[in-house]
Amino acid sequence: MKTFYDVIVVGGGPAGSWAAKHAAEGGASVLLLEKDREIGLPVRCAEGVGLDGLKEQIPEFPKSWIAQVIDGAIIVAPDGREVEAYSGEKGVVLHRKLFDAGLAQRASEAGAEVVTKANVHGLLMKNSQVCGVKVQHLGESYEIQSSIVIGADGIESRVGRWASIKTQTPFAEMESCAQMTLSNLDIDPTRVIFWIGKDIAPGGYFWLFPKGPGTANVGLGISGKFTKDKKAIHYLKSFIEKKYSSASILTIVAGGVPSGPQLNELVGNGLMLVGDAAHHTDPLSGGGIINALIGGKMAGEVAAESITKKDVTKKQLSRYQKQWEKQKKKELQLAYRIKNIIHEFKDEDFNKIADVVLELPLEKRTNTELFKVALRKYPKLILDMATMWIRSK
Ligand SMILES: Cc1cc2nc3c(=O)[nH]c(=O)nc-3n(C[C@H](O)[C@H](O)[C@H](O)COP(=O)(O)OP(=O)(O)OC[C@H]3O[C@@H](n4cnc5c(N)ncnc54)[C@H](O)[C@@H]3O)c2cc1C
Repeated sequence: MKTFYDVIVVGGGPAGSWAAKHAAEGGASVLLLEKDREIGLPVRCAEGVGLDGLKEQIPEFPKSWIAQVIDGAIIVAPDGREVEAYSGEKGVVLHRKLFDAGLAQRASEAGAEVVTKANVHGLLMKNSQVCGVKVQHLGESYEIQSSIVIGADGIESRVGRWASIKTQTPFAEMESCAQMTLSNLDIDPTRVIFWIGKDIAPGGYFWLFPKGPGTANVGLGISGKFTKDKKAIHYLKSFIEKKYSSASILTIVAGGVPSGPQLNELVGNGLMLVGDAAHHTDPLSGGGIINALIGGKMAGEVAAESITKKDVTKKQLSRYQKQWEKQKKKELQLAYRIKNIIHEFKDEDFNKIADVVLELPLEKRTNTELFKVALRKYPKLILDMATMWIRSK
């Protein structure tokens, strides 16, 4: 490691690698620091993304990144009835280990220096300007200067807090997740399954994302509102014992997903936040991989442009925040509102929605149709959406 870089990226997940790649491609000297010994591990993710969304961000990628192509979804209502849903778009379950490592490799090929086992434990500040990081690497401490620091340090992010950006999430706005990778399962590997119901996953849902024949990521996310009495891992254990008692457990992971409103500030003087560190997950689905790539690219490009202009003030870096908000703010705000409304649904409401949807032919069971049925049940959604639409004009 050198003593100075134009841009230091903290965290080697999708957001960090993509920010590092784009900053390096824009001509900046870039250092990417990852605290774990290996990029991509441990995997704390169900690894599912839409194929179109992935291709939009990364048009060419090796087949080895894909564990399983998904053709459809089954939603299991609280009363146990299975509703096959039609999406039109294919999904994929990734091998995050290979995917994350591949993204870091692309950052490195673009010119970024990637260092693992490098735990950033503080920022260097001068007159309220971020100007580098303090890092522990292989038992030694270093202070490395930079013009910009990009915080891509995930859900447990401290980089934003160190720079006095308000990143705290109330407990109720956090999805608490637990997941096992199971083998020896009797499943259709081309279908994802979602279970809903307050006894199964209150304020969230249970998922099964196949990773190939007989293997799947099975887990759940529940709203922080409901974790006082029973933790996500206990819901998971009861479910697996009941449903997949003969499966072998290959991995167990726990983690959080921010599902609250957007952060007010994504940038400071010499500082940018991306991915989960910037709370860029979709509050409704909990998905954050594609958004991490979108935000990472935007931040990396703005960082490189700011280095060229020799201006790393908050005002200049807020070009990234503006771009992000233009593309994503309304979508994520709407998802947040819908999530809050769906949290009000009772099991009987979901069962009634299943009644109506089961009457529809498969090709009509799209997200939009499911949503229309929910609208009939909860007309206030229309009002909320209309307000959003008017505000967006
Ligand atoms: C159980 C679970 C299931 C999920 N399933 C899905 C899914 O199916 N699809 C989907 O799209 N999203 C899913 N998500 C969300 C998704 O995993 C995240 O949105 C995504 O990983 C965000 O990428 P990121 O780069 O911002 O953060 P991360 O992938 O978390 O990367 C952050 C990196 O920063 C490193 N780091 C942290 N602190 C430091 C430090 N001080 N110094 C150096 N390095 C540091 C970490 O080690 C880590 O490698 C899931 C999340 C959970 C918890």
